[in-house]
Amino acid sequence: MKINENYLKLEKNYLFIRIAEKIKDFQAKHPDRKIIRMGIGDVTQPLAPVVVEAMKKAADELAVKETFRGYEDSGAGYDFLREAVSEYYHSFGAEIPASDIRINDGAKSDCGNLVDIFDDSNIVLVTDPAYPVYVDSNLMNGRQLIYADSDESNGFAAMPSNDGYDLNGEKIFPDIIYLCSPNNPTGAVYTKEQLAEWIAYAKTHQAVILFDAAYEAFIQEENLPRSIYQIDGAKEVAIEMCSLSKTAGFTGVRCGYTVVPSELKTTASDGTEVSLAQLWNRREGSKFNGVSYPVQRAAEAVFTPEGQQQIKENIRYYQENARVISETMQELHIPFTGGINSPYIWFKCPNNMDSWSFFDKMLEEIAVVGTPGAGFGKNGVNWFRLTAFGDKDATIEAMQRFRSMLEK
Ligand code: PLP
Repeated sequence: MKINENYLKLEKNYLFIRIAEKIKDFQAKHPDRKIIRMGIGDVTQPLAPVVVEAMKKAADELAVKETFRGYEDSGAGYDFLREAVSEYYHSFGAEIPASDIRINDGAKSDCGNLVDIFDDSNIVLVTDPAYPVYVDSNLMNGRQLIYADSDESNGFAAMPSNDGYDLNGEKIFPDIIYLCSPNNPTGAVYTKEQLAEWIAYAKTHQAVILFDAAYEAFIQEENLPRSIYQIDGAKEVAIEMCSLSKTAGFTGVRCGYTVVPSELKTTASDGTEVSLAQLWNRREGSKFNGVSYPVQRAAEAVFTPEGQQQIKENIRYYQENARVISETMQELHIPFTGGINSPYIWFKCPNNMDSWSFFDKMLEEIAVVGTPGAGFGKNGVNWFRLTAFGDKDATIEAMQRFRSMLEK
C-alpha cells in the first residue's frame, strides 16, 4: 500500500494540540497556578432547558416500539428540522427551501467533505488568516492554495483581487473560494456590499464560494448579513455551512446544516449541465448516514420561539464577556478587531511581539491562555485571538491580570 503523502506535508501538530501540550507542561511545573483558558473556541454555558427536554423526549420515543426510529430515510435530515432551518433563514430575509438544506454533525465535517465533489486540480483561495480546516482539508487532497491577505489595511476583511493571485510566479484566479463571516479568528464581518463584490467575482471567474456562517448568531448590527443568501445572485455561486455549536452550545451535541442551492450549476467536461446539489447528495448518500434522532429533535427546539429566547440569553452572556475584553483593549490602546458581532477579539501583540512568544509570556506571567495568530496564517504572526466563550468572572479576572502584565 501507499499512503496519501499529502498528509506528510501538513503542519506537524494541529494548532490546538500544540497549545494543549504547552498548557500541560506549564501546569506540571506550576500545579498551584490557576490557568484561565481563552484559547480554544469552545463554549461553557449549558444547553438551553428547552433543548434538553426535546432530547430527553426523543430518547424516550426510541424506547417504545411504536415510536422507535432506526436509519433516517434520506440521511439529509428529518423534514421537521430542515423546515425549521428554512423558516429561520426566512426570518432574516433569505428564502431557502427545506429541500436545499442538509443536516449534518457540525460544520467542520462539511468544510472538509464538500471538497470531495470538486476536482483536485482546482485552485483554492483562502483568506489569510483563516480557520485552519480550509487549508488542511485541501492540502490533504493535494490542491494548490492561494491566499487573500486580511490585514490591518482592509480591516481583516480581504477583498478579491482583479489582478489575480501569485502562484509559482504566475497570476492565477481561484476556482473555489472560502469565506468566513463573522470571521474566525479576526471577528471581522463582511458587509452586504462586500459580499456582493465577492459574488460578482465568483461569477466572472466561474468559481464557487464556500461560505462559513458558523458565527452568524453573534451579529448584533442589523444591516450586516447573517447569510450570503441575503445578497442577490448568491444562490448561483455559493454553498453555505452553518452550525449550532456556537449558536446554541452544541459543540458536544454535534449538529449543523449545509445549504447547496438547486440554482448552483456547472458544466461537466462533456458539456452537460450538472447540479452541485445532486453531486453533494450523491456523495453524502454513500458516505454519511445522518444525525441521530434525539439530536435533530434538540436542534429543532433551538428554532422554536422559546428556544430562540433561551439561546439568546447565552449569546448575550458571551457578548458581555466580549465587551469586557474589547474595553480592556481600548483602554490599553491596543489595536483590535471583533468583539461586537463576534465572540472573538483579535488584537495586535504589544511591541509587535511574535504571537507564539506572546503566548508564552501570557502563560508564564499571568497564566492566561489565548491563541497565537500565527496558527491561522502568516498575517497572524503578530496578532493574537482571545475568545469570549469563558466564564464571566474568569474573563474579568483574566483582563485584570492582562492589564497588570502590560502596565508593569
Ligand atoms: N467553522 C468555523 C469558522 C469554526 O470556527 C468552527 C469551530 O470552531 C467550525 C466551523 C466547526 O464547528 P462545528 O464542527 O462544531 O460545527
